[in-house]
Amino acid sequence: MTVGIVGAGQLGRMLALAGYPLGLDFLFLDRTADTPGAQVAPSLLGEFTDPTLLRELATRSEVLSFDWENISVEALRAATRGLRTRIAPPLTALATAQDRKLEKQLFDRLGIPTTRYACVESLPQLHAAVQKIGLPGVLKIRRMGYDGKGQKVLRKPSDIAAAWAQLGGVPLLYEEFIRFDYEVSAIGVRSRNGQIALYPLSRNYHHDGILRLTLAPWSNPALARQAHRQLRLLLAHFRYVGVLAAEFFVRDGRLVANEIAPRVHNSGHWTIEGAVTSQFENHLRAILGLPLGSTAALGHSAMINLIGSIPPRRQLLAEADVHLHDYGKQPRPGRKVGHMTVLAESARQRDMRARALLRRYYRRLPAIP
Ligand code: AMP
Repeated sequence: MTVGIVGAGQLGRMLALAGYPLGLDFLFLDRTADTPGAQVAPSLLGEFTDPTLLRELATRSEVLSFDWENISVEALRAATRGLRTRIAPPLTALATAQDRKLEKQLFDRLGIPTTRYACVESLPQLHAAVQKIGLPGVLKIRRMGYDGKGQKVLRKPSDIAAAWAQLGGVPLLYEEFIRFDYEVSAIGVRSRNGQIALYPLSRNYHHDGILRLTLAPWSNPALARQAHRQLRLLLAHFRYVGVLAAEFFVRDGRLVANEIAPRVHNSGHWTIEGAVTSQFENHLRAILGLPLGSTAALGHSAMINLIGSIPPRRQLLAEADVHLHDYGKQPRPGRKVGHMTVLAESARQRDMRARALLRRYYRRLPAIP
């Protein structure tokens, strides 16, 4: 049974690695040959919108999925027309996650608290949005943003023109700047027959817009209840199939939804070693119509992203509890090239261990617990 995946990044690679023990095969489509996915499975080489290649991918696969959301919904839909190949997660979820306006409107419709926002397509509209929402605020491109790219914080009136000069020309969204206490994410999975399983909450630490550290389970029953209720609403709304992640700010014990990702998520990498069934395996089970595995945590996990380059392998592996995941990417500043996970018996031990590892491998990183 072959799973076709559009995008062969580290998420695709980890999907394939999770699927091999289940007896699955994989076929990727990506723009370059030397991708993390292509190192572990065959890959078609070309544009994500290439109709011939997408059609080939669809024809050779039982189900089509994607590891990256900045792809064309239309091209995907056309690729499977007249075929029995299913697409999962649903394209309606992909289209919503691709546009911050649609995402906010959905949060509003489902009663999920989110930031106050205004859509902006001109400099006068940006002035009006700042007038309405206030300062500070964050100006974001509506589409194609990731890892904090395509956004600018506005703190004073004189920042307006500069932010417009930098980001203007494409549809934008201006939202209030949230003075959050911290950030969490919730990851859930829904199968084709409507079975739902939810992972424990994760607490996430970003720096320069990039996730650095995830601690999970983040034990806060009141927050977990809120997050899981909202995740269930989202999963039901889309009649979702596969893994869905939702990111939240936490302010005064309440969640403020930031965004959703219709795919396996970086803040769920801890589930590989830290949960009975990983997010990757459960995504595959869901999209293939198989029963879901348990999402229970096995201990207390800390996942640290390796950014730019992998520290010396011998040194990392001398940390006897470290599970290293090297994505096989060329080093480049700011690039996620791997991650490591440690498991501990208590949250306190986990946090101490995470702190020690961060000190050792992230000497210049400020402000992490
Ligand atoms: P995003 O691409 O929307 O996930 O933003 C990346 C990161 O920027 C988030 O994880 C936050 O740390 C920060 N951020 C985004 N939007 C806001 C906001 N409205 N207020 C405060 N921080 C934000």
